[in-house]
Order: sequence, then C-alpha cells, then structure tokens
Amino acid sequence: MTNNPPIPFLDLVTPHKELEKELCDVFRTALNTAGFIGGRVVEDFEKQFAAFCDAEYCVGVSSGTDALRFALMAAGVKAGDIVITVPNTFIATVEAISQAGASPAFVDVDERTYNIDVRRVKQYLQEECHFDADAGATIHRKTGRRVAAIVPVHLYGQMADMDPLLDVADRYGLLVIEDACQAHGAQYFSKKDQRWHKAGSMGVAAAFSFYPGKNLGACGEAGAATTNDAEVAKKMRMLRDHGQARKYYHDLEGYNGRLDAIQAGILGIKLQHLAEWNERRRTNAGRYGELFGPSPDSVILPHEPAWSKGVYHLYVIRVDSRDELQRYLAEDGIGTGIHYPVPLHQQKAYAELGYKDGDFPVSERVAADIVSLPMFPGLEARDQERVVRQVIAFSRARAQKVALAAGTGSY
Ligand SMILES: *Cc1c(COP(=O)(O)O)cnc(C)c1O
Repeated sequence: MTNNPPIPFLDLVTPHKELEKELCDVFRTALNTAGFIGGRVVEDFEKQFAAFCDAEYCVGVSSGTDALRFALMAAGVKAGDIVITVPNTFIATVEAISQAGASPAFVDVDERTYNIDVRRVKQYLQEECHFDADAGATIHRKTGRRVAAIVPVHLYGQMADMDPLLDVADRYGLLVIEDACQAHGAQYFSKKDQRWHKAGSMGVAAAFSFYPGKNLGACGEAGAATTNDAEVAKKMRMLRDHGQARKYYHDLEGYNGRLDAIQAGILGIKLQHLAEWNERRRTNAGRYGELFGPSPDSVILPHEPAWSKGVYHLYVIRVDSRDELQRYLAEDGIGTGIHYPVPLHQQKAYAELGYKDGDFPVSERVAADIVSLPMFPGLEARDQERVVRQVIAFSRARAQKVALAAGTGSY
C-alpha cells in the first residue's frame, strides 16, 4: 500500500456540503407545508428539466427504471412486442422492456463509441423481420411478433448516432425511446437540420435517472421522462399515479411511480449547477486525453465523434489485463469501476432469451477490457496526473513482461 491520499472514483460528499444550506431548506419547507408528494415543487422542477432538455414535457417519476417503463408503455409498446436494444447496458434498460410486457432483441454495439451499431439494427430488421404493409408494422419472422421500438442507450454520457437510427426507425415504423439515464445534457449534431440536439429531445420519449451517482442526482431515488408529445406526456402522468388523471377515477391500471417533493426540490437546486458540472467533466476528460498523450499503444481512450458533445458520466478506457490494473490502482488508493462486467445476454437472469456466448462479440470483447477511471466535476488535475501516471506505469510494465515472455519463447 502507499501513503498517497486516496483518489475516489466519485466524490458525492463535497457537492452536497457546498449546497447544504439550500438543500436543508428544501426539507424544512416540506416539513412546514407537509407537501411531500406532487404539488408545485414537483411541477416547477418538471418545467425546468424539460427546458434543460429542450423538450416540451417532463414527467417526474420515482426512478430511471420507471421512467423508461412508462415511456415505453405510453409511447405504445404493448405486451408481446419486441423492442431492440443493446446488451452492454445496465440491466434496468432491459427490465423496463420486459416489465412493459415486451421482449428484448439485442443488437451489438459500435466498437469505438460503445453505443448501438445502426448497421446491426438494419441487419436484424432485414434478415430476421419483414415489413407487413397491411398491418403497417414490422414483424419478426420466427415468432410472428411485432417489432415496436428501438431503445438506444446514450452510454457513459455520449449520445447514440441518432440521425441514421431515426431514419431506420422511420423506414420500419418503429418508435425510438432514448435511455438517457447517463446523459443529462449530452448533445448530438444532426446533419438534417444542421444543429445540436439535447438528449431527451430526439426520440418519442426519453428516460432519465436521478440516482445519486448520475450527473444530476437526487438524495435518494428519482427519475424523469421527457417527450414532445402531449398525449404521451399525459399517459406517463397517469401511469405514474395509478392510472388516474382525477383522483380515484382510474382510466387504466397504473403504478405508484411518482417523484416526491423533497427530491424534486433538491433536484431543482442542483439543476442550476448541472451545465457547469457537465462542463467541468468535459474539461477533465480533455485533461485525461492530454495526459495520456496522442496515441498510447495499449490504452484505448474514449472516442468522441465530431457530432457528439458528451457529458462524461463515466470516463471509460480499454486496457489489457484490466483486472490486474484495477488491483494495481486500488493499491495506490485509486478508485475505479467496471460498467459493465457481464453483457446482459450472458446474465443468468436472461438465460431464457436463448442467446449464447459469441452472439455479440463487440460487447463481449469490450466488457473484458473496460475500466472506468475517477470522473466527477471536482476531480483535481493533480489527481488525474497521478491516475494517468499509474495506468501508464502499469501498461509499460505489462508490455515489457509480454515482450520478455515472447522473447524467451523464441529462443
Ligand atoms: C441508472 C440507469 C438506469 C436506471 O436508473 P434508476 O434510477 O437506477 O432506476 C437505466 N439505464 C441506464 C443506462 C442507467 O445507467
């Protein structure tokens, strides 16, 4: 072990200390008014977050998972439908799909961005489905099920390549519902109208998580769904509140999935800082890039295409001997994470889907090599220098070991 001070993977304590007074006032107001569920505080936050995302409507809910499930259901995904998504995501993406009554169909990701590979979406639709003109729907041949939607996951804070994805969706009559749970404030430059678009404004609807560690985090569980469609917004409001628009008159069976007022108040305060926090994450990502240098052989850095402005929820690199590197960094007090170690098609929970090892080679390859380095707005430059120094020291030592072993073998 070292005497170096620890560098946490994520510092959630400092930002809350800095905002302590304002955050405590939220709690005091809630106590004094007994306004705990719904009400003005929630509505105000919804307006502010919709504006932040350049979306017409925002519906506050109790988690990102609920947000995605309600978005799918409200947009028109029905029991028995198929929803296309990726295997390299947090399980909640697929839980939301299954729990909306649909079945997930996985397609692999792009090796540079780690986001959905639109070529694979096309391949799935061309090879395994046909478009039924009478029904106006795309049908999966083998099961006869309707393919209803695509869920791109804006992983690590970078948006999926939306222009071609929206084109394919349009051609096959599919809904696009964004999993923006890691991408609050991320932007995509559309060639179609030559301007930047925010995550949460491009699909029929989008889901955001306010889990504490996300770029915008509550002090507990919370989430939101955004949409530009008034009907979808209305349906999501009903779904989160037992299927009622008017108390005790239930037009459909819904859920208890509301956003509570204390979380909404806290989120409203933090939202005022989000653009600046995201900017600091981008600065930190740029600094990592400079510190690693132009082309570190054995370290693959995040790739940001010209059409993307990512918000670096995570800073993920690929290395050989990932597990060893993780231990090496831990010995120096440097915190890291793996997002995610096992692709969903290889999880026990989804054994029934019938996928096998090798079905999604990019996702599988990436899962073995990725490691998330410390990333948060208040990360210090000198700490980043130490992280990079240690990663490079490890990679050099490992490269030498490999060369040496190869050398001995050939004699
Ligand atoms: C965090 C996350 C979710 C789920 O959000 P919760 O608020 O934890 O329910 C869904 N999808 C992705 C990609 C996430 O990172």
